[in-house]
Amino acid sequence: MSTLTNKAKAVDRSPMSFMEKMYLPAIAKGMMITFSHIFKKKPTINYPEKQRPFSPVFRGLQILNRDEEGRENCTACGLCAVACPAEAITMEGAERLPGEEHLYREEKYAAKYEINMLRCIFCGLCEEACPKDAIYLSETFAPADYQRKQFVYNKQELLIPHPKENPEAYQKALGNRANKATSN
Ligand code: SF4
Ligand code: SF4
Repeated sequence: MSTLTNKAKAVDRSPMSFMEKMYLPAIAKGMMITFSHIFKKKPTINYPEKQRPFSPVFRGLQILNRDEEGRENCTACGLCAVACPAEAITMEGAERLPGEEHLYREEKYAAKYEINMLRCIFCGLCEEACPKDAIYLSETFAPADYQRKQFVYNKQELLIPHPKENPEAYQKALGNRANKATSN
């Protein structure tokens, strides 16, 4: 018989001995393996009560950034959408009107901004392409859902919390970026 590897093991078809027919040695061997694992450190954790820390290079759910005044950074230039290899980003730009300076940092802003998380491969190219520090990949991920349309995130779902209205959530959404900013 020819084999692809040398790992093939011939099946032993000899009749079972009296001890083998009792199955007790095999059961005892199996129980020993089970008990040997009882006092070992568990590889699992009680998620979501406990969560593992993310790697510093983890790339998760996108966040649309604001400046320290709470104004949206995005100027709807479209570079992120062009850079996206998965064509996951859709946007529509609009002109900022007089009196909206406290909402949008630039004269143009994204009236609509959507990311399809089912297309996204979390490569981070949108973050790299953005000249306005308006988008980054955070240290969280899109929660599971039953409907595909729930994975198309709109602007309100992607926007970071307002730094003045909700500073705690803002800092949390910044994650590692907040630490980097304070260490620089
Ligand atoms: S992380 Fe990559 S795939 Fe996802 S939206 Fe950004 S550029 Fe597209
Ligand atoms: S997120 Fe950045 S690259 Fe994308 S449209 Fe806004 S400013 Fe341009």
